[in-house]
Amino acid sequence: MAKEIIISVKNLTKKYGDFEAVKGISFDVYEGEIFGLLGPNGAGKSTTLEIIETLRDKTSGEVFVDKIDLDKGPDEIKKIIGVQLQTSGYYPGLNLTELIKLFGGLYNQTVEPLQLLDLVNLRDKAKAKYKELSGGQKQRFSIATTLINQPKIIFLDEPTTGLDPQARRNLWDLITNIRDKGTTVIITTHYMDEAEVLCDRVAIIDSGKIIAMDSPDKLIDNLVATGFERPKEVKKANLEDVFINITGHVLREE
Ligand code: ADP
Ligand code: MG
Repeated sequence: MAKEIIISVKNLTKKYGDFEAVKGISFDVYEGEIFGLLGPNGAGKSTTLEIIETLRDKTSGEVFVDKIDLDKGPDEIKKIIGVQLQTSGYYPGLNLTELIKLFGGLYNQTVEPLQLLDLVNLRDKAKAKYKELSGGQKQRFSIATTLINQPKIIFLDEPTTGLDPQARRNLWDLITNIRDKGTTVIITTHYMDEAEVLCDRVAIIDSGKIIAMDSPDKLIDNLVATGFERPKEVKKANLEDVFINITGHVLREE
């Protein structure tokens, strides 16, 4: 099956004053994949994402989203992408159903709140307010809001930062399901275990430059081929395994 390119970034740069945060990066994202931008804090992940999302101006370079040139059709691009809103945008007095209706109105879309909440396993919180949700539930709700306009691509900037192990795994399942239904996902993370499980391909970005790009499997194979060997593991499990094993995989939020 030929893979269609849905996002193409060419020689992208971004300067904040004299400081060049993104230094001429190029990458393609294929339709239907989970593409990870990996890198330490300050690497330029959010800047890159927000430029593609049309929320930040670039300094130079080219960006195409579903063949639409960012310079010519930012409004066209906005219609086919889903972006996580800043939490400050969630009116504190409204419950989840009301918030989804409100956002639907902003996107000019008729949405069925319960259907959307089902997708992210939050139906029983339909009448709860955003501030009453646990960390994992907040993240799931914010992912639901990216889906309101039935986008072709969603952008997730560090969606699992600060979550407990169960909530992280739950979010990985959710993101995988969204991909399996045909939506392309771009995600940023600095957790390599997460990228290894979740991403079809990753770009590793450091100080504004892409220093590696491939599937996690291929990147690992390449490293092993250089003769790299991990210090021998003495135990067959780690503390996270213990934690997950004794507390269970079940998501606990109350
Ligand atoms: P990441 O998301 O990978 O942590 P960012 O894209 O947020 O990185 O930031 C990349 C670099 O650009 C950092 O050094 C950051 O301090 C700087 N930066 C980000 N936004 C601004 C801004 N609005 N003004 C000036 N510098 C910024
Ligand atoms: Mg960031």
